[in-house]
Amino acid sequence: MKIGDLLKERGFSVSFEFFPPKTPEGEKQLFETIGELKKLKPTFVSVTYGAGGSTRDRTREIVRRIHENVGLTVMAHLTCIAHTKEELVDILRDYKSIGIENILALRGDVPRDKLDFRSPQGACKYAKELVELIREEFGDYFSVGVASYPEGHPESPNMEWEIRFFKEKVLAGADFSITQMFFDNRYYYNFVERCTKAGINIPIIPGIMPITNFKQIKKFASMCGATIPQSLIDRMEPVEDKPEEVARIGIEFATKQCEDLIRNGVPGLHFYTLNRSRATLEIYKNLKGLI
Ligand code: FAD
Repeated sequence: MKIGDLLKERGFSVSFEFFPPKTPEGEKQLFETIGELKKLKPTFVSVTYGAGGSTRDRTREIVRRIHENVGLTVMAHLTCIAHTKEELVDILRDYKSIGIENILALRGDVPRDKLDFRSPQGACKYAKELVELIREEFGDYFSVGVASYPEGHPESPNMEWEIRFFKEKVLAGADFSITQMFFDNRYYYNFVERCTKAGINIPIIPGIMPITNFKQIKKFASMCGATIPQSLIDRMEPVEDKPEEVARIGIEFATKQCEDLIRNGVPGLHFYTLNRSRATLEIYKNLKGLI
């Protein structure tokens, strides 16, 4: 089913994000996680795409297995900077041929291990061009999501810039958006308010990152420009080498964050699961009655 339609029908969406594992053990673990999380009846799940197209076949295979064997609505992430338009159309045509109807259209980043990386001639420079390409070639066949950044993308000089180019992606045909992780809901509320004033009215689903490994999330957060509140740093740093303590605080924090978001009428919650189910399951249990 198309996520754009599901969001309209369901009113509130819960979704989970996975990445394609590199090893057979990782794959086994992922499908166990998906089996556990399926019990929560998510609106959809999504599978990331490696920088520079590095997971092209693995992403496709995981998406296909979820669609055909697990029976959940699935969205394939697709990044455009490392592909020609012809390659992108081939990838999309292939997804269409196996019945995939949802794409998260992204620009992607230059792969960090490829210092001499050059985009191919005529590649899409920004995600907006990928959204346009999808609409030109496939009309309304795909429901298209795009990324958004409540604290601003690291390359955006200010929030006016951020909103201006986010709006371009929406006008190009995006049906909904999923945000970068954030830990202070005020960034999300301010962002949505600015978007509404700018005439952007697609659902903007908050991306939730439950912290179970503080050192790792500190690194992710600094790379993508997400601020970790000082009060949370103060609680996490003294226990950062104690995984059980970190997970306990992380789950408690994410539960409160989600409660506040739900009370403020968000269209859904998108959990970055890192292919594990425990934190998401516990948060979901804590939210019982609210969703
Ligand atoms: P864009 O929307 O193209 O924006 C990138 C920057 O360019 C922004 O600063 C924007 O303001 C600016 N910009 C846009 N248009 C113009 C213009 N015409 N002129 C000047 N500046 C412009 N990465 C992956 O590699 N794989 C994934 O699976 C993946 N999944 C993600 C899922 C979510 C929910 C999010 C939030 C991010 C994800 N990313 C993923 C990361 C993403 O690829 C990076 O953040 C990337 O740097 C930007 O992608 P974008 O689609 O937001 O780019």
